[in-house]
Amino acid sequence: MIEASDLTKRYGPTVAVDDLSFVVKPGRVTGFLGPNGAGKSTTMRMILGLDRPTGGQVLIDGRRYGELEHPLRTVGALLDARWAHPNRSARSHLRWLARSNQLPRSRVDEVLDLVGLSSVADKRAGGFSLGMSQRLGIAGALLGDPQVLLFDEPVNGLDPEGILWIRQLMQGLAAEGRTVLVSSHLLSEMALTASDLVVIGRGRLIAQASTAEFVDAAAGQSILVRSPRSDRLSVLLTANGASVVADPGDGPPALLVTGVTAEQIGDTAAANGIALHELSPRRGSLEEAFMQITGDDVEYASGSGNGRHRNENNPVGATS
Ligand code: ADP
Ligand code: MG
Repeated sequence: MIEASDLTKRYGPTVAVDDLSFVVKPGRVTGFLGPNGAGKSTTMRMILGLDRPTGGQVLIDGRRYGELEHPLRTVGALLDARWAHPNRSARSHLRWLARSNQLPRSRVDEVLDLVGLSSVADKRAGGFSLGMSQRLGIAGALLGDPQVLLFDEPVNGLDPEGILWIRQLMQGLAAEGRTVLVSSHLLSEMALTASDLVVIGRGRLIAQASTAEFVDAAAGQSILVRSPRSDRLSVLLTANGASVVADPGDGPPALLVTGVTAEQIGDTAAANGIALHELSPRRGSLEEAFMQITGDDVEYASGSGNGRHRNENNPVGATS
């Protein structure tokens, strides 16, 4: 279990992590999701005691990283796949790591086998592909057989086979009852990998929810409406507090309505003698949910100008 409370990190004027609180539970894969620059790596470094919080704290099984008696047996992490010394072989890198952490030497061959590097164990790490480096980094994380695992953007730059392998590995580790926190800015990947999400933007918590809840909360918000009298209907719905925009999709002209229910739209139309040709909740993808929810929190400007804004009073909910 990982518990962050009011975690804050400032670098000079930059607030990298801003009053962040969340819980990561054992037995499941939790996705740590946010656009680039959101503060994911900084948070992970603070979990691992590599960065000191400006405020708040983060505990692993009730203790700070620095208080752990056997850090590598408690929490394993892959932060940067390329940190092994390039002239060391995979095996000697892991043996050194094992020795400096009082872990049995026999565990080295076990983890090499686990990550599928046995056949290249004596080759120098500097010659490894990115995928092999990721596997070596994961072997290091697993060396102490820890109950808590952190992976920072582990699928970056991997081919589909490598991505699938990492996904199955993480799910397997969670199925063994371990706490698995994996960061990504790739939503489609998280949708397939994580059952829970901690979503951040600009260092702040945007949502902590199951993946299904997160998608439903955002994607269930807009309702697609087609009517031959859409102009009149739009005026009536807006007067009722709805937000109405033209559907940007490829289909026939339609309205996208948020802030009212499908029932309210149907009743308003009926009361005013307006025919409806379509009234359907719009089931968005995780990408759409993410864009709606984090729209204001993307650090780099995408310049999409789609007019969506996060509602401060209901961060997981309505767009306006
Ligand atoms: P993510 O991993 O989500 O992409 P980071 O945690 O790397 O985000 O960065 C969050 C913010 O903190 C960014 O604005 C980044 O520029 C800033 N930042 C990260 N590390 C440092 C540092 N060592 N010094 C100054 N600013 C930093
Ligand atoms: Mg990062």
